[in-house]
Amino acid sequence: MNVAFLASEVVPFVKTGGLADVAGSLPRFLKEQGADVRVLLPFYKSVKAKDYPLKKVVESSLISWRGALSPFSAWEYSAGSFPVYFIERDEYFDRDFLYGTPDGDYPDNGERFAFFAKASLELIQQIGFKADILHGHDWQAAMAFAFLRNGYGDGPFFKATKSLMTIHNMAYQGLFEKEILQTAGLPGSLFRPEDLEFFGKVNFLKAGILYASAVSTVSPRYSQEIQTPEFGCGLEGLLRTRNERLFGILNGVDYSAWNPEIDPALAENYSRRSLEGKAACKQDLLQAFGLRPAKPGAPLIGIVSRLAGQKGIDLIVEGLEGIFDSGAQLVILGTGENKIEKQLLEARKKYPRSLGLKIGFDEFISHKIMAGCDLFLIPSRYEPCGLTQMYSLRYGTIPVVRATGGLDDSIQEFDPAHRSGNGFKFGPPTTAALLDSFRKALVLYENKDLWSRLIRNAMAADFSWERAARYYLELYRVILSS
Ligand code: ADP
Repeated sequence: MNVAFLASEVVPFVKTGGLADVAGSLPRFLKEQGADVRVLLPFYKSVKAKDYPLKKVVESSLISWRGALSPFSAWEYSAGSFPVYFIERDEYFDRDFLYGTPDGDYPDNGERFAFFAKASLELIQQIGFKADILHGHDWQAAMAFAFLRNGYGDGPFFKATKSLMTIHNMAYQGLFEKEILQTAGLPGSLFRPEDLEFFGKVNFLKAGILYASAVSTVSPRYSQEIQTPEFGCGLEGLLRTRNERLFGILNGVDYSAWNPEIDPALAENYSRRSLEGKAACKQDLLQAFGLRPAKPGAPLIGIVSRLAGQKGIDLIVEGLEGIFDSGAQLVILGTGENKIEKQLLEARKKYPRSLGLKIGFDEFISHKIMAGCDLFLIPSRYEPCGLTQMYSLRYGTIPVVRATGGLDDSIQEFDPAHRSGNGFKFGPPTTAALLDSFRKALVLYENKDLWSRLIRNAMAADFSWERAARYYLELYRVILSS
């Protein structure tokens, strides 16, 4: 089975969120199960700056663009477990950020990623990689499905190629002016509601939903939720029409990178059988955030998150007094919207002994938080899958989450009577519900016997990529046979 993966970020090369984790891990596990997977992404400035061993595989290849022939080059990285190809076009990708500056998105993102999608198809053809499945991720890759439908798919090379579009977040759809169609060499007739038009704009994600052989999301629950107005972001009707071809597969965890037994970021390693090292991790974490324990054994809560409206950080800001009244302390690592960053910086001033804050993206510290905390808070308004709850489980750090999307699929409320479950969940997106759930967790935290059982349940949870890769391969087979 040959699979071409198109994604705008891929671990370890570039990452701003969970998509990068998925695009960097899933191919490895698909390969272990026999697939030949090639991954394509743009050649960003930050990737160029690192000294990866790369081989140029295409030099100034031409695609039709803005009514003329326009060049791109491509580089291959073959030192990992699967080949990765970087699409080079400096005008578009040699920039300081992936999608935009702190002041906002790059205004030509439509052009940038439509170019990436088209050049990717051209590259796949030029290197002669006969893809059975073209697997595109999110709006940045979605125009590949439009090019496949309008041109590339008609030729003999892609004739038998089927496709899968994976949506990692419905809220990011890629909306651009209609001129993008002409720029990209696509028929203007696609600008109608039955095709790519969406309230006066071209909607890239729609290209994937309409034209891919099948669509998937990153959890079963989210695949249902996005068919409702609350979560569908205006595309719920269209998604309902594709209901038969819409699937949900929960993401996996790369346990070679997220494992307290071997994690080099931790002050001490520990395991499910021997938890002693976790206390040292807590001390180390408090120190890293310049905090002293409020009182012996006080619970420490962690958050690692993009600071975006989706993540419900406002519910936490509103609930800080309630959290700190209980004697708990909180450490937050995050970066994102200025407004939320400011709110947190203000809160840090107000609660210097209870709140530790790092504004920034820091992989190393994120591992320390997973290990050093007792509880991990994820109050997302919506969450397509969510990875951090799965990481925290493996580190015996108990998640308190909102029951939505993949959070709902991966966390089961702890039931003291049966000693079953791996965390705590709340329903309404309100501070009151969050605090309620948090207080339930605190009551249990005081019961050493039950708490230790809960930690062991959490650490036993298995969200391996092997399992997820098996589902994807099964889905590829279903797509190919229909
Ligand atoms: P999303 O993709 O919506 O941001 P996910 O939970 O799916 O949310 O994935 C987020 C990923 O990014 C996780 O690997 C998480 O550890 C990481 N992450 C988020 N914010 C930070 C940060 N400030 N520093 C380090 N890692 C972060």
